[in-house]
Amino acid sequence: MARIAIAGAGVVGLACALRLASEGHAVTVVDPDPDGDKCSWGNAGGIATTEVVPASGPGMLWRVPGWLLDPLGPVSLRPSHAPHMLPWLLGWLRAGQASEVERIAAALAALLGRVYHDLLPVLGEIGLASHLHRAGALAVYSNAAALRGDAGAWALRRRFGIVCEELSGAQARSLEPALAPKIAVAVRMPDWSHVSDPKAIWAALLAAVRARGVPVLRGQVRDIAKPGRVRLADGQEVACDAVVVAAGAWSAALARSAGDRALLESERGYNLTLPAPGVSLSQEVIFAERQFVATPLAVGLRIGGAAEFAGLSAPANYARSRALARLAVDYLPGLARSGGTEWMGNRPATPDSLPVIGASPRRADVFYAFGHGHLGLTLAATTARLVADAVARRPSAVPLAAYSAGRFG
Ligand SMILES: Cc1cc2nc3c(=O)[nH]c(=O)nc-3n(C[C@H](O)[C@H](O)[C@H](O)COP(=O)(O)OP(=O)(O)OC[C@H]3O[C@@H](n4cnc5c(N)ncnc54)[C@H](O)[C@@H]3O)c2cc1C
Repeated sequence: MARIAIAGAGVVGLACALRLASEGHAVTVVDPDPDGDKCSWGNAGGIATTEVVPASGPGMLWRVPGWLLDPLGPVSLRPSHAPHMLPWLLGWLRAGQASEVERIAAALAALLGRVYHDLLPVLGEIGLASHLHRAGALAVYSNAAALRGDAGAWALRRRFGIVCEELSGAQARSLEPALAPKIAVAVRMPDWSHVSDPKAIWAALLAAVRARGVPVLRGQVRDIAKPGRVRLADGQEVACDAVVVAAGAWSAALARSAGDRALLESERGYNLTLPAPGVSLSQEVIFAERQFVATPLAVGLRIGGAAEFAGLSAPANYARSRALARLAVDYLPGLARSGGTEWMGNRPATPDSLPVIGASPRRADVFYAFGHGHLGLTLAATTARLVADAVARRPSAVPLAAYSAGRFG
C-alpha cells in the first residue's frame, strides 16, 4: 500500500483515484477547482472506440492554410500563440509521416481495443451502467467525393479490424430521419457508443472516490520536483510515496518539474447544447466534411467540435459554438437553435495524438495520465487500469513504451 497523490480531478484523475483506492492505496486528489467546469464536463460524450486515426497525416499540411483562412473553420491558431507552439507543430508534422501514422494507429488501437473491458466495470461500480448507449455512430457526407477523399482514414480503421459499413444517403436517412436529403453517403461504426451526460459520469466518479474515503483537496500543485511530497501553490505540501499527474491540458508544467519534457497544447473545442432541438437522433452523428458532431445526450442535443490553438488563458470565442450550430442546420434542417448553452473546453493534445501514460522515464515515483486529446472520456478507465499496473510494477495490460513521456526527448 502506497500513499499516492493525484494532481487533477477530471475524469482521468478520478478514474485513476478510484482504481488505485480499490487496490488498497491511500489516495489523495488535489485540484485547484475540484468542483469547477473542466474538459471532462462538457465534451461530446462519445465512447469513440473506432478512432485510431491520428490528427496528423500525410499531406495534411497542405489543408492547414485553407482551415486557417476560414475564420470559423475546423482549425484555428491565434497568431500570437504560434511561436510558443513551434516544437509542438514540428512534432505534429513528424507524426503525419506515413510510417508514423501506422505506428500511432496501432498504439491507439491497443488502448481502444480495451475500452469496454475497462469501462463497463467502472460504470457498474459508480451506478451508471444504464448511461452507456451502445448505439454506434454515423459519419455522414453530403458529397461522395469527400468520402473518397477520406478513403485512407477509413482503410486505416478497417486494417485495425474496425467495422465501418458504407451506406447510401437513403439508408442513412432510414436510420436517422432528421438528416437532410443532401446527405449522399454515410459510414456507420457500430462499435462506437455514447453516454447520457459526461458531467454525470464525472460527478458519479467523484462521489464514488469520496465514498472510498479519498480526500479531494482544493489546491494547485505547483511542482513535484522532490520525491516524497507535492508542493502546492499556497506553500503547503502533501506527503506521498508516488504522484500521478492527471491535470489535463495543465500537465506539462508538472512533468517539467519532475525533469520530463512533454509536448502538450490546449486544443480548445466548443459546443452548443440544445435542450429542445426539435429533431431527434438515435446515435452520435459525425458531419465528416466539416469535422463536427451531434450527440443525443440526456441534457439535449450537443453539437460540437473545432480545434482552436490559443493557449490556456485566452478568452473563449463562443462565436464558434454558434457557428457550429448554424452549420448543423444544413445537415439537420429541422434543428431549432434557440435556448442552447455554449461551452468551451481545453483538450489536452499531444502532437502525435497519443496520451502520456505510465512511469516517468526519470523518476520511479512519478506516473503520468494525461494528453488524451479527443479521447479522454473514452480512455479514462483504461488509463486508470494501466496506471495501476505501473504503480504495482506488474506486467502492463498494454505495453506502455508508445505512451512514454520519453518520446518527447
Ligand atoms: C468539444 C470537445 C468534445 C470532446 N468530445 C469527446 C468525446 O466525445 N469523447 C471523449 O472521449 N473525449 C472527448 N473530448 C476530450 C475529453 O473531454 C478530454 O480528453 C478529457 O476530458 C480530459 O480529461 P482530464 O481529466 O485529462 O482533464 P480535465 O477534465 O481538463 O481535468 C483536469 C483537471 O486538472 C486540474 N488542474 C489543472 N492544473 C492543476 C494543478 N497544477 N494541480 C492540480 N490540478 C490541476 C484542473 O482544474 C482540472 O480539474 C472532448 C473535448 C472537447 C473540448
